[in-house]
Order: sequence, then C-alpha cells, then structure tokens
Amino acid sequence: MFSEDLLFTHRGLSGPAVLQISSFWREGQPVRVNLAPGVDLPALLLRAKATSKKLIANELASLVPSRLADAWASQDPALQRPISEATDKALLALAQRLADWELVPTGSEGYKKAEVTVGGVDTRDLSSQTMESKQPGLYFIGEVVDVTGWLGGYNFQWAWASGFACAQALAQKISG
Ligand SMILES: Cc1cc2nc3c(=O)[nH]c(=O)nc-3n(C[C@H](O)[C@H](O)[C@H](O)COP(=O)(O)OP(=O)(O)OC[C@H]3O[C@@H](n4cnc5c(N)ncnc54)[C@H](O)[C@@H]3O)c2cc1C
Repeated sequence: MFSEDLLFTHRGLSGPAVLQISSFWREGQPVRVNLAPGVDLPALLLRAKATSKKLIANELASLVPSRLADAWASQDPALQRPISEATDKALLALAQRLADWELVPTGSEGYKKAEVTVGGVDTRDLSSQTMESKQPGLYFIGEVVDVTGWLGGYNFQWAWASGFACAQALAQKISG
C-alpha cells in the first residue's frame, strides 16, 4: 500500500502513487484506491445529509476533483439528488466505494515513460562486494541489474553505490 498523491490526467491516472504501484502491477490485475484516506467518510456524508442542501456530486467535489464527482454521481440515479434526500444506505455504499475504489488499468505508458526497468541481471549472479559477474572481468551496475527501488532517490542511490563498489574493486585490481 502506498500513501501518495494521485493525479488525474487526460490519459488516465498518474502521479507518485501510480508510479509506485506500477512497479508491482501486472496486466489484468485490479488496483484499489482510497480516494479519501484519513477521512471518516460515513460520518462526513451523514453529517452533510443533516446539514447541507447541496447535490451529492457537489458535496463529493470537496473530496475528489469535481469532474470525477460528477462522473461518479452520474452512474447511479440514487446519487443524482440533494444529499439531504439520499438514503443512509446509498451514502454508506458511496463511502465504501470511495474508500475502496477498485479498477483494472487498461495498461501502462510502457518504457516510453518508465522511470525504472524492473528487471535485469540477476543479483545472484553478481558479487555483492564488487559487482563482478561469474564471468571474470565482467561487471554490472545500476539500472541494468535487477534492483528496483521505490520513488525517492533509491534508484540513484543504487546506481551510485553499485558504481562506487565496482570502481573500488577495479582500482584495487589495477593497483594490486
Ligand atoms: C524520467 C525519469 C525520472 C527518474 N527519476 C528518478 C528519481 O527521482 N529518483 C531515482 O532514484 N531514480 C530516478 N530515475 C531512475 C534513475 O534515473 C536510474 O535508475 C539511474 O539513472 C540508473 O543509472 P545508470 O547509471 O545505471 O544508467 P543510466 O543513467 O541510464 O546511464 C546509462 C548511460 O549509458 C549510456 N549508454 C547507453 N548505451 C551506450 C553505449 N552503447 N555506449 C556508450 N554509452 C551508452 C546512456 O546514454 C547513459 O548515459 C528516473 C528515471 C527516469 C527515466
């Protein structure tokens, strides 16, 4: 589970949360999104029912982008009314769906937009001290190795650290 920002673009979902999960997602698998993390949705919607005259879609717009709120409400006649007229059952079902929105992505943007490759030379075939492979004199470092970090600089760190280890080993070999 990742607690990160989510971006709605004209092509689909993006942003840090999606970049993170894309390293784990496999085609055909569902992704589950909590659109209002940390919010007590049932309490919020039932309170709004008691105090607000707004349409449900307009209330939702305080939680999610207004066009998403409109699209969401338009799918269900029970949600196309002032929130004061909604049944508790409909609001609780809505709260549940917002907190656990399951969708199956049609695909990713592929290598064109990828930040990491997720794959590469198996670390079991490399020395963790020197990055030398079982083929003496052949070294692998960085992105070409099957090491993938979360967002946050871990891939840079891996590239630099493995490069440093390899360079140290080569320097020792040359001087020794
Ligand atoms: C858009 C984007 C954003 C990213 N953001 C982050 C981030 O915020 N934090 C993070 O940790 N990681 C990030 N990454 C991942 C990170 O950039 C890589 O994991 C890291 O740069 C890998 O370093 P590397 O030296 O192994 O490979 P690279 O940086 O890919 O370096 C390989 C070099 O080899 C050169 N090369 C290729 N073929 C040949 C050849 N035949 N002869 C000579 N030279 C060749 C290439 O031109 C390139 O300069 C991002 C990647 C992308 C694409």
